[in-house]
Amino acid sequence: MNYRHIYHAGNFADVLKHAVLARLVTYLKGKDKAFRVIDTHAGIGLYDLSQEEAQKTGEWRDGIGRLLATPLPPDIEALLAPYLDCVRELNPGMNQGMEAGSVTLYPGSPKLTRMLLRPQDRLSALELHPQDAATLARLFDGDYQTRVTELDGWLALGAHLPPKEKRGLVLVDPPFELAGEYERLVSGLAKAHRRFPGGTYCLWYPLKQGAPIAAFHDALKALNIPKMLCAELAVRSDRETTGLSGSGLILVNPPFTLKQELDALLPVLKDRLRQDRFASARAFWLRQEATEEDDA
Ligand code: SAM
Repeated sequence: MNYRHIYHAGNFADVLKHAVLARLVTYLKGKDKAFRVIDTHAGIGLYDLSQEEAQKTGEWRDGIGRLLATPLPPDIEALLAPYLDCVRELNPGMNQGMEAGSVTLYPGSPKLTRMLLRPQDRLSALELHPQDAATLARLFDGDYQTRVTELDGWLALGAHLPPKEKRGLVLVDPPFELAGEYERLVSGLAKAHRRFPGGTYCLWYPLKQGAPIAAFHDALKALNIPKMLCAELAVRSDRETTGLSGSGLILVNPPFTLKQELDALLPVLKDRLRQDRFASARAFWLRQEATEEDDA
């Protein structure tokens, strides 16, 4: 387990993932009933971008740094408010228009989620790396709403579902350092959805040279899960680099407004975060067989 998210925190892939995560959590708060967020690959929760590792790659400068560098159109600012307000809260004194370098603390998925929860909601955060799990546990020490477990997150897709609240969101954000992670996402979703069909799911995957994206989408479609949305943002051509050229999210049982929101958001993110003229973005249904009336 060599992957450390501090090198990548706040980058263009985090921006897409965390902007959508914040919208999903905000939507769940539309009903009073309590919900649980299960974050299967949680990381350390809070990233200090002034640390050597983050400074070394500087990836956040082309992610959250660019997003906050100049004001956004009002409708986009409103869509991103649940996410950006958390970043601003962690960085008091930071104003739009200030130098991008003014972002120092960046929330990972569990911290961002936790900042958005109401008193009745809960967070289960799993992390396998012992040191990162310990750091995460310290961050939430004494927080009765959050449970941090040092465990293989893939196991949570079986044993931890359905949550006792019977409402919730499962974020699966593996590091993709092992072969077969696309296949594991598909089989993990199949297992999880059987146990908790009404849950909302958000699965992250990388776009990079040679990635089996078409086969991945086909395998997901073959699961016959009725409501499955896909959002992808590539910030550059995959020909020039063997690294990440973009990222995608698979969203199962998304709020019915999400597709429309993504249609507004993705073009702006593409323009803000683009690194060459091959940047592209799309949101489309992999499966859409149910009506908005039966949306959870
Ligand atoms: N979700 C985090 C966020 O958005 O801030 C970033 C997570 S990072 C991409 C992936 C994390 O998964 C790393 O911290 C890594 O140590 C952890 N990890 C790797 N394999 C795991 C496994 N089988 N179960 C749980 N965590 C794992």
